[in-house]
Amino acid sequence: MTPDQIERYKRHFLVKEIGGPGQQKLLNSHVMIVGAGALGGVAARILTATGIGRITVFDKDRVELSNLQRQTQFSKRDVGDTKVGALFRSLSTLNADTQIDAVQDRWTSETGLPEVDLILDGSDNFETRFALNAASRAEGIPLISGAVAGWTGQVLAVNDPSEASCPCYQCFVPAEPPDAGNCKDLGVVGAITHLVASHQALLATRYLIGEQKNLFGRLTIMDGLGGAFRTVKLPQDPSCPVCNP
Ligand SMILES: [Zn+2]
Repeated sequence: MTPDQIERYKRHFLVKEIGGPGQQKLLNSHVMIVGAGALGGVAARILTATGIGRITVFDKDRVELSNLQRQTQFSKRDVGDTKVGALFRSLSTLNADTQIDAVQDRWTSETGLPEVDLILDGSDNFETRFALNAASRAEGIPLISGAVAGWTGQVLAVNDPSEASCPCYQCFVPAEPPDAGNCKDLGVVGAITHLVASHQALLATRYLIGEQKNLFGRLTIMDGLGGAFRTVKLPQDPSCPVCNP
């Protein structure tokens, strides 16, 4: 590592489970993020600061004024620009150690998966969530899913490539809920989106340094209004068409 890197990451070196070897693993990692908004964009900033070597991010949308209530990676001057373009500028000035591949397109199953170590889902619709889960399972690349609505948030890590009995996202959500709306239709509290994005980035960091105990198959539910946070273990669904065909 360069003297700049030793200075930049010194607080990581002091953490027993990370240290120099862990930081090197992070610098050698490639993470794919779907969505550059409240979850994906915020997680991308944390992971760039963390020193992930390469991040590929997909998003088709442009920055709107109503995004700024929670998407703190953007500024007023970014309104009207593409989200991936504005995010690229934001991340490039944060840490040159991270190579950013910004794709201004919606990720679909036709897009396929690049060669990555891990996927973060920050999308706002079930079609993308299901397609991403199926691709993650098929390719053996783990997935960290995040979702927010109102005061509540959820984070779930699935598709452990080393454990066939690990549940997938569709074990947890078998089909699109009938009352599902996407983020555009639902209210959401700015601060809860950062809790979810931070938790996704935390689980990503743990996975990439090899601290995987109690990581997969656990759903964390954050009730921001009631003040209750809890984590429950999810079983694999024996009738799941994705992970148990
Ligand atoms: Zn499943």
